[in-house]
Amino acid sequence: MDSLYQEVILDHYRNPRNKGRLDPADISHEDDNPLCGDQIRLDIRLGEDGRVAEVAWDGHGCAISMASASMLSQEIQGKTLEELLQLGKDDILEMLGIELGRARLHCALLSLKVLKTGAFGLTAWTGVEES
Ligand code: ZN
Repeated sequence: MDSLYQEVILDHYRNPRNKGRLDPADISHEDDNPLCGDQIRLDIRLGEDGRVAEVAWDGHGCAISMASASMLSQEIQGKTLEELLQLGKDDILEMLGIELGRARLHCALLSLKVLKTGAFGLTAWTGVEES
């Protein structure tokens, strides 16, 4: 099971989905994880119904941070802002499908942190302290 999940992560790392930029975008934000050197920028366009219509992300970093951003960019398509606000650590871990130590958690959660900060101004959110 573990190797299957790792294959999925490597696939997203090597063939990232929705990588690029949106200009203009309704939500645009970037942040980094200095512990590992990961950097992620996220651009989101909202449709007239208030749902996520288009997502693009760009950045560089380790496989976990890049795969997480790629997966998250697919996950949030069509979601409302309220649904985005509900996303938490567990959703990311479920997407990645592997157990992560504390250091890797910062990598995995960076894309969601960029989303939380850019869309809702939750600058203090790291997700790492959530149980
Ligand atoms: Zn990393």
